[in-house]
Amino acid sequence: MNYCKECLQPDTRPNTVFKKGVCPACNYFKKFKEVNWEERKGILFDLVEKYRNPSAQYDCIIGVSGGKDSLRQAIWIRDYLKLRPLLVSIQYPPHQLTNIGANNLSNLINRGFDVFQICPAPIVWKRLMKAGFKIFGNWAKSTELALFSGVPRLAIDLKIPLILWGENPGLQRGDLKTLGKTGFDGNNLRNMNTLSGGDFSWMLKSGFSEKDILPYKYPSKKEMLKNNIQIVYLGWFLGDWSLKNNGMISILNGLKVRDDSPSNTSDLFQTSALDEDWVVVNQLIKYLKFGFGKTTDYVNEMIRLGEISRDEAIKIVEKYDGKCSDKYIDEFCKYIEISRDEFWITVRKFSNTELFKIDRANNSISPKFKVGVGII
Ligand SMILES: [Zn+2]
Repeated sequence: MNYCKECLQPDTRPNTVFKKGVCPACNYFKKFKEVNWEERKGILFDLVEKYRNPSAQYDCIIGVSGGKDSLRQAIWIRDYLKLRPLLVSIQYPPHQLTNIGANNLSNLINRGFDVFQICPAPIVWKRLMKAGFKIFGNWAKSTELALFSGVPRLAIDLKIPLILWGENPGLQRGDLKTLGKTGFDGNNLRNMNTLSGGDFSWMLKSGFSEKDILPYKYPSKKEMLKNNIQIVYLGWFLGDWSLKNNGMISILNGLKVRDDSPSNTSDLFQTSALDEDWVVVNQLIKYLKFGFGKTTDYVNEMIRLGEISRDEAIKIVEKYDGKCSDKYIDEFCKYIEISRDEFWITVRKFSNTELFKIDRANNSISPKFKVGVGII
């Protein structure tokens, strides 16, 4: 495990390659000072111009969760780019959706947006979550597929070829396989670690039918090309795109945030994934697999923005990363119908023993690494 020399990104992040000890996201942010943002905005205006369609009801589609990034994007696209977006939300089942999530989606509707909700069948959804948790130690394996796939699928069905996403996971997170021809081209999103090239065999082997898994299937390259689908990352055009900024801008526009603390959620500002709570559980598992979680994502941005030093960030990560309240674990176990013991047996199975010492007798897991340094 090696850490980026400049931030606290370890090279355990999937699909990442460091250059001379520096992570891709730090290299990307370093070029920010040289960027001519007005020129980039010009590129964006030229690009979206050909998608303006006065004879249609909408010019573009935005995938939204009702969270901080989607609210900021929706307002910017409508009020600054003057496009008429259709917002598409893949809806969590009622047991999973939080009240805050429902209220934030209502906030978008109250702000004058049309929201199209896709609700995959809840029983299949829940069974897939359980299968993903047992097989990969990742309950969101299927749900993330649905979140990413539903949007282009609907774009094809409704013949709205322009899809706007926020963050470029290649540049801003370091998932290099997603990089397209340009900084804003999102047509390689299908290669994202989450979508993992569209392997559905685990679902079929777990007893789900082709029909069951349709909402989880990302459209093929051929379908995307045939329908001229263009995915554009807005993050490339916005110099101040960050977890924190998006949170602040969205709070000013009516976003409600989670009422909890970083020691229960590892989320420094309580603004991430507000539409459901079990992402906190998944962040804990991610931490035990790769040695970093949500807190690291936050502080890395803050280091790059010059808001905190790397040493200050180490203290914050040591204090909060990988933290997850039992409350969220218990709610999750209840939903997928497993005991807390079964939960920990699975989590231990997927914990990285090179990075963590697992003491089964005392049910404790402790890091073998020092944050910012590596294995000790
Ligand atoms: Zn870095």
